[in-house]
Amino acid sequence: MSRELENLAKDLRKFLANADEEDFILKAAPKPKRAAFVSVKATKEEVSTTQKTASTKTKKTPLTKEQELAELAQKICNCKNCPLGLTRIKAVPGEGNINARIMFIGEGPGFDEDRQGRPFVGRAGQLLDKIIAAMGFKREEVFIANMVKCHPMIDPTNPDKHGNDRPPQMDEIARCRKFVEKQIVLVNPDYIVALGGVATKSLINEHTPLSALRGKLFDLKLDHYTPEKNIKILATYHPAALLRNPGWKKEAWQNLKVLLADMGAKFPSSQSKKED
Ligand code: SF4
Repeated sequence: MSRELENLAKDLRKFLANADEEDFILKAAPKPKRAAFVSVKATKEEVSTTQKTASTKTKKTPLTKEQELAELAQKICNCKNCPLGLTRIKAVPGEGNINARIMFIGEGPGFDEDRQGRPFVGRAGQLLDKIIAAMGFKREEVFIANMVKCHPMIDPTNPDKHGNDRPPQMDEIARCRKFVEKQIVLVNPDYIVALGGVATKSLINEHTPLSALRGKLFDLKLDHYTPEKNIKILATYHPAALLRNPGWKKEAWQNLKVLLADMGAKFPSSQSKKED
């Protein structure tokens, strides 16, 4: 009995001793505070790591095609890289379907485009809309741009004068060229239609007359970028030239039929009347 009492007393001392120790630890180093501190510290680290990860992600996340084109348009609107930027009213970056199969490229904005900041919105633009429709597309299904993005004027001191348009000069095209090339690689169309001699000389061959290049498909070669795929380019008359020379419309339609045939598009022969 005395041995049992001794063992019981021993267990009781041990229990009390442990209880005292725990109680001491709680008072001397309160676990919740330590835990809270570690937790806060960890939270700060986590926040900072999260922020770093987020900022890294922001840096690394590539822009969408739409964002890149919008950013490019903004650059064009702020550009003063050639004298045309000093006299324009509005820059005309270009517009259309960012996934277009066909891109139409003219030489530069005119009077109406300069005021609206949109390509091909004057009389020539209305004819281009008809041409696009005759090809079986809507304007919003294609992408429309120009070699230069600001209005080249004969008399830049008089932007309100009608008939003040002139073709862009080669040095103006050279300074602006990166913009249209970037648009081409971003849209990545299957075909480009070069409208008129300036776009044709710039994008196909500057030494061969337009008459020898029209209605033939060429592989596009760019100066500043490499397209993802082979893009075919076809030259035809500028709509403004067709307005001045309505007799050329039939020939222009024959040019465009080469592209349509290459696309495998089927169109009734009566559609050729739509060019009028
Ligand atoms: S024409 Fe082109 S290069 Fe010249 S100012 Fe306009 S956007 Fe810039």
